[in-house]
Amino acid sequence: MPDALPAFSAIVVAAGSGSRAGGGKQWRRLAGKPVVRWSVEALLDAGAQDVVVVTPEGADIELAEALRGLSGWRAVTGGTARADSVRNGLLAIDAADVHPVLIHDAARPLLSRAIIGRVLEGLPDADGALPALPVADSLRRAVDGAVGDTVDREGLWRAQTPQAFRLRTIRDAYAAWTGPETPTDEATVVQRAGGRVRIVEGDVRLTKLTFAEDFAMAEQMIPRSVRVGQGFDAHRWGPGESVWLCGIEIPHDQTLIGHSDADAGLHALTDALLGAMGDGDIGDHFPPTDPRWKGAASDQFLIHAVERLTARGGRLLNVDVTLICERPKVKPHRQAMRERLAEILGLPLDAVSVKATTTEAMGFTGRGEGLAAQAIATIELPS
Ligand code: MG
Repeated sequence: MPDALPAFSAIVVAAGSGSRAGGGKQWRRLAGKPVVRWSVEALLDAGAQDVVVVTPEGADIELAEALRGLSGWRAVTGGTARADSVRNGLLAIDAADVHPVLIHDAARPLLSRAIIGRVLEGLPDADGALPALPVADSLRRAVDGAVGDTVDREGLWRAQTPQAFRLRTIRDAYAAWTGPETPTDEATVVQRAGGRVRIVEGDVRLTKLTFAEDFAMAEQMIPRSVRVGQGFDAHRWGPGESVWLCGIEIPHDQTLIGHSDADAGLHALTDALLGAMGDGDIGDHFPPTDPRWKGAASDQFLIHAVERLTARGGRLLNVDVTLICERPKVKPHRQAMRERLAEILGLPLDAVSVKATTTEAMGFTGRGEGLAAQAIATIELPS
C-alpha cells in the first residue's frame, strides 16, 4: 500500500463544452473510459474525502452514466465561465478553513497519485501549489504568418492542474477578485489576492485534451501491458454438405455438429481473446443451453469478445489459429479465412495467421471423427 496522503477534497471541473475537441469531450472515451471518470477515479483512489464534479446544466444523466459504480462524488452545475464553475464547486464543499482542496480540469484525465501527493506536499508552506513543467521548446512570436521575435523562455512554465489550496484561502481569494476579466486558473486568483503559489513538478501525461489529435496522443501515453490468451475447441463430423471454418463456408461431404454453426476455428479464437482478458470462456457468454445460439453464425461470438476488449480500452495485436484435420484441405481457403478474420477483428492481414495440420492419421482427428482448432491471441490492456 502506498503511504497515506493528508485528508483532502477535490473539485473536478467538467463544465466546458470542449468545442475545440469536437464538443462534449468530458464524455468521450479514452481507452474505453469516459474522460471525466479518469480524474474522479484517480482522486477517489488517492483517498479524496469528497469529490465535487462541476458539469454543464442538464448533464446529470451523462455524468451518472460516466461515473456509474463509483461512490464518494457529488454533482454541481457549473456556470458560464470556468471561474463561475469553480465558485459553485467551492460553495458545495463543507470542511474546515484549513482543509486542502484540489481543483482539477477533467480535460487532463491522466492524473496520477504522485501528482496529487506533490501538490498536497507543496501546500503547508505556501498559499497554494501548482504543478508545472518548464518550457523546453524555443518560443517565437508569429507576425503575419512569419517568424517574428524570439520570446525568452527563461523562467517560463506550463501550468497544469490539480492546483491545491486551503479552502478558506481560495474562497477568500475568489471573493476578493474584482477584475473585469475572468481568471483562467485558481493560482491567478490567489496570487492577485497577495498569496504565494508554489510550483511543484508537473507531469507530461497531464496534457490537456484540447484538440481532436490530443486524444490520440493521450491514448499512446496510457501504460498498457501485453497479455496472451489461448483457446481450444473440437467438434464431431456428421452428415452434411458444407462446413464453416474461420468464418468461411467450405463445400464438403460432411459438416461439424454443434449447437451453433460449429465453427471450431472461431470458437477457439473467441476463447483465446476471452482468455487474454481473464474474462471467462465462450460457454459463459453464450451458454449452449440458450436457444438463441442454435445454429448461430459464430462470428457474433468473436465480435462480442472484441467489443469486450474495446470496452476495457484494450487493443488486439495479433492472432494465430491452427486447424487440425485430415479433410477438407484447408490451404485453398486459408487466404479467405485470414481476410474474413482480419475484417471481423479490425486487424491488418499480416497480424492474422491461419495454419492447418493433420495428425498423421492418429487420434480422433486422424480417424476423421472430428476436427480440432487451437488459437492464440495477443492483446494490450491498460495496466
Ligand atoms: Mg465449439
